[in-house]
Amino acid sequence: MDRILKRGRLIAGVDQNSYLMGFRNSFTGEIEGFDVDVARQVAKAIFGDEKKVQFKVVTSAERIPMLQRAEVDLVVRTMTITCDRLERVDFSSVYYQAGQRVLVRRNSGITGVDSLGDKRVCVASGSTSLGNVVNRVKTTVSVPNWTDCLVMLQQGQTDAISTDDTILAGLAAQDPYTEVVGARFTEEPYGVGIPKGQEDLVRFVNGVLERMRADGTWSGIYRRWLNTLGPAPVPPVARYRD
Ligand code: GLU
Repeated sequence: MDRILKRGRLIAGVDQNSYLMGFRNSFTGEIEGFDVDVARQVAKAIFGDEKKVQFKVVTSAERIPMLQRAEVDLVVRTMTITCDRLERVDFSSVYYQAGQRVLVRRNSGITGVDSLGDKRVCVASGSTSLGNVVNRVKTTVSVPNWTDCLVMLQQGQTDAISTDDTILAGLAAQDPYTEVVGARFTEEPYGVGIPKGQEDLVRFVNGVLERMRADGTWSGIYRRWLNTLGPAPVPPVARYRD
């Protein structure tokens, strides 16, 4: 925390390719989205100014290595908390509960994950989405960014994309010839990733998230970006280890 304060800005790893969650607004050049707003809230809590944050763009696969090398103070990028990842990085409390679904071309006849047994499925490398489908589909192709999957779907190089409903909602919004099918088949609790051994920062971020849940900031950010997923749910209740 002291290092961040002395530097005068927070350094946050975010996505620039996932419309709605973390994406570059092509009119303004700014990075925006649900996760980006969460990062801005942390900067605002430290400096009283949500602009005091420098964004570094990270792919799914780069998240953990960048945290381990401390190239960012934290990562807010559709990052599922898993036991495996907890061995290598720390996480805040859960700030969003996503779930994995399937995106296909309209009228493809695919109705969900159970109809992918003889299909090609695109996923991002380094994502939990890959492990969740690898034994349930014919082949997987992995790419750096979720938008790379959208191009492959549009070009007929893959039959489906499977990842979190949040990311799929953004892809579907960019291509009206696609649709999200089937129910959620995993739980993807998102946490803010933080390098190991920085308990003060974990506690501080948890405090910011707690305030956002209580004062309506969380719901406001949800409504700003994720309305297409339905009315704002109750924010995830924090569970602490101590
Ligand atoms: N939430 C999943 C993960 O952390 C998929 C989303 C992503 O790759 O950004 O791996």
